[in-house]
Amino acid sequence: MKALVKSKAEEGIWMEEVPVPECGHNDVLIKVKKTAICGTDIHIYNWDSWAQQTIPVPMVVGHEFVGTIEKMGGEVQGLALGDRVSAEGHVTCGHCRNCRAGKRHLCRNTIGVGVNRPGCFAEYVCVPAVNVFKLNDAITDDVASIFDPLGNAVHTALSFDLVGEDVLITGAGPIGMMAVAVARHAGARHVVITDINDYRLDLAGKMGATRTVNVTKEKLEDVMNELGMTEGFDVGLEMSGSPAAFGEMLDKMNHGGNIALLGILPDNTAIDWNQVVFKGLKLKGIYGREMFETWYKMASMLQSSLDVTPAITHHFKIDDFQKGFDVMRSGQSGKVILDWTK
Ligand code: NAD
Ligand code: ZN
Repeated sequence: MKALVKSKAEEGIWMEEVPVPECGHNDVLIKVKKTAICGTDIHIYNWDSWAQQTIPVPMVVGHEFVGTIEKMGGEVQGLALGDRVSAEGHVTCGHCRNCRAGKRHLCRNTIGVGVNRPGCFAEYVCVPAVNVFKLNDAITDDVASIFDPLGNAVHTALSFDLVGEDVLITGAGPIGMMAVAVARHAGARHVVITDINDYRLDLAGKMGATRTVNVTKEKLEDVMNELGMTEGFDVGLEMSGSPAAFGEMLDKMNHGGNIALLGILPDNTAIDWNQVVFKGLKLKGIYGREMFETWYKMASMLQSSLDVTPAITHHFKIDDFQKGFDVMRSGQSGKVILDWTK
């Protein structure tokens, strides 16, 4: 089969012929229809220091996809050939304390599809049947192919009560911009999002932000005054991985505020702990999606008017994958979808 393979320890990704993956007793083999490019795939493409330490070469990359079940192992129950599915890309051990308690997103032994085991940038991908999420017909293939990052946005945004609250989102990447729509859907009052990239802030505006703020041109403080916010934000969603953005968030939170951290900060980032202590802030780290509460929540919200389609900005047929990686690397994109059926 055709697959996009990280086959050399250098910048780039290459289309190669590889064997169709073997499907174990508890696995399903999925025929891939559409895939989306994640920031992680860009790290792997760029072959940065994280990728060099993490990715065994050669590796079939990719973890955001939609497809149909082509083959099932003998022990698989509750699924059928032809089912339209996406899947959780974190494969968990099943035997650690958290897995046994049903908190699989906190598994100590997580393995990543397209990171530590063959991924979905291929004609077929094999995953454990328990990782599969069956899709309602109301959900389009485009949106189903971005369930993984949408799940990051949903898990982060729904970490705290948002009803009537003022929410600050730092970072209008694909996940931050989708978090805007989720916060709006969940009933927040003001949803303010910051970035340094106007293209992405425009998209965040289309997704329902009260106010978008390019921090290189405008002061967040002025925007808060404009909105009549005299005290500070109730909830912060950190989705930039920028120490400057996180520092500003700490500074602009109201006392007793809640912060969920998705963005991956550089090693040993220092913060002003006095903001945390004297304001009584609560900080929560977010990794992946809750299995599978986040998946059900996002599917249900999509069926009750949550719209994340403005975040999808580019489509390419798979033979044009290089164009997809190029636009994603330029920063002038939201989600980029690669179609394996064309
Ligand atoms: P992304 O890199 O596309 O988006 C980050 C955005 O932050 C960019 O648009 C960038 O311009 C912006 N930014 C940079 N400096 C800023 C500043 N000073 N103020 C405001 N914005 C600034 O990433 P993404 O795919 O949307 O993911 C968001 C973050 O979440 C990334 O840090 C990513 O590594 C991380 N992530 C974490 C998990 C997890 O499980 N914890 C999963 C996926 C992604
Ligand atoms: Zn586990």
